Amino acid sequence: MAEYKRPNTESESEENFSQIKPLMNSTEAYYESSRCLFCYDAPCVNACPTGIDIPLFIRQINSNNIIGAAKTIFDSNYFGHACGKVCPTEVLCEGACVYNHSDVKPIEIGRLQSYATYQAIATGKTFYTPKASIGKKVAVIGAGPAGISCACELRMHGVEVDVFDSKAMPSGLTVHGVAPYKITNEDVLDEMAYLEKQFGYKLFHNTTISAKEDIEQLQNKYDAIFLGIGLGTTSELSIPGEDLKNVFGAVEFIEEIKIHHHFVTVPNKVIVLGGGNTAMDAASESARMGAETVILAYRRSKEEMGAYAFEYELAKSVGVKGIFNVSPIEIVSSESTFAKSASADKSSVVSGIKFIRTKTVNGKVETIPGSEFVEECDCVIKATGQSKQISFLNLIHDLQLNGNGTIKVNDVFQTTNEKYFAAGDVVSGGEEVVNAVADGKKAAKGILKYLLH
Ligand code: SF4
Repeated sequence: MAEYKRPNTESESEENFSQIKPLMNSTEAYYESSRCLFCYDAPCVNACPTGIDIPLFIRQINSNNIIGAAKTIFDSNYFGHACGKVCPTEVLCEGACVYNHSDVKPIEIGRLQSYATYQAIATGKTFYTPKASIGKKVAVIGAGPAGISCACELRMHGVEVDVFDSKAMPSGLTVHGVAPYKITNEDVLDEMAYLEKQFGYKLFHNTTISAKEDIEQLQNKYDAIFLGIGLGTTSELSIPGEDLKNVFGAVEFIEEIKIHHHFVTVPNKVIVLGGGNTAMDAASESARMGAETVILAYRRSKEEMGAYAFEYELAKSVGVKGIFNVSPIEIVSSESTFAKSASADKSSVVSGIKFIRTKTVNGKVETIPGSEFVEECDCVIKATGQSKQISFLNLIHDLQLNGNGTIKVNDVFQTTNEKYFAAGDVVSGGEEVVNAVADGKKAAKGILKYLLH
């Protein structure tokens, strides 16, 4: 394989991770916006979780009112720029565009959206001035898409907002987890700085809220608290060999590449376990980091993968190979054998994965006895789901969780403890950036109603 050379410099890294939806120039934007039919009751709008008036902003671009187009976008979606780049538009707005019925390429809505919002961010255009203070304070825990969206909306209505985040940079997974070929860190952070300047919420970086005392302090100081903490670390597979060297969680692996770029060395033969979009990202990124072979191993069939079809195609386009109906039963090292593997320690490096073949019967995965085999590798990336932050959530009095560990909320995203609201992955269990942005804004409206009742 090795379609990509290992990046040794920042520019080589940028080349390997070149943007799959690059910024349009003005000619491209004019031409593309000319193709829009400005449909009545446009299906693209109905398919957007934030309900952006897409025909309006495309018409504004077409009449050279680029800043007006940006305002139309931000009015519905505070992450207008990031969403133009990272949204799975193929299954949202662009997937709903009427051109699909005529076998004509749908309008490139995402790229037009990024084109307009980029101009507003680059020129520092101010659209919003928060109302005078209404004398209420809200703490937002988590500076991800849900938390920042909630903070912006609350500020618009005169609420004082402090945002706490354990990381050094805001935007949650947008900067730490989205594949670099979808959006650059610079793009994400420019939009974050743009929002912070306009809305004036206070951002406390590197500030972890984790102990009961932290929660009690917030409860005493703030009128309401918003939980936008997302999900936790990659879940354990609970098979022998998980603690070997070069066995990584996908979320942690992707974050490492997002932050340290070409300073990360990805081994030569990588196996990614999982069939979701995170697995596709981890596999694509391994290939772009110069790994010679990248295999995606999934315990069900190709058709049963949770990933979007276009994400799998993207991974295949950089040389990733898929093996299906295989379940890992042990991660092995050169020092370990199947029998003594439980004693293999962290100093041993992974040398392969022992799989067993599977079949799906009545929707359930069944293993096929006697079908075990070892696939060699020197790196394993587990993309088999993220844990929930249950022990932290259990510290909050009266906060009820659903059976799957997500937070129980009502239709305005209020939890069972009336002072707490929540949205984003901590409620949904894992959705797109755009869903978190939409729900964070709705939660802000719920908080306002609660503060003013
Ligand atoms: Fe334009 Fe397609 Fe939306 Fe119609 S559905 S308004 S053609 S983008």
